[in-house]
Amino acid sequence: MTCLECSKKLDYLDHRNSMDQLGVELCGNHHTRMVKLIETKNTPIEAIQLYYGLKGAGVQAMLEWWDGKKSVDIAISRVKLNIEIDAEYHMMTHEQAINDLERTMHSFKNGFTTIRIPHVLIKHYLKETVNNILGIMEGLKANIKVI
Ligand SMILES: [Zn+2]
Repeated sequence: MTCLECSKKLDYLDHRNSMDQLGVELCGNHHTRMVKLIETKNTPIEAIQLYYGLKGAGVQAMLEWWDGKKSVDIAISRVKLNIEIDAEYHMMTHEQAINDLERTMHSFKNGFTTIRIPHVLIKHYLKETVNNILGIMEGLKANIKVI
């Protein structure tokens, strides 16, 4: 058991605390940092799980990336891909839906593709979700000039 961020060896308590609260293996230090991120940015836990899922697959992503107008849950800048986690799918109002669409439109104008992933997908199909994102990245690489 080692920290996914710094590879520090985890003792039983660190491991259990982090798994219970975040569902990922982090040392006390990195666990605290993630909890702070959740508190200040309202980051969904699933975004953190997906971030480490992608990291495990060798993908360099950024959590809570500020694109100049808004904070994106996860961004993979190399292929200009933004990933938003839909935390409460069934609660979406039409105002939220049109706001989301407008944000997606602005991102597209800046050359970014936005995909929205329901949080339940990460809970139940993390590996498949990561694999699909890898496929999307390949498609984007073929279609845009990689920066
Ligand atoms: Zn650590």
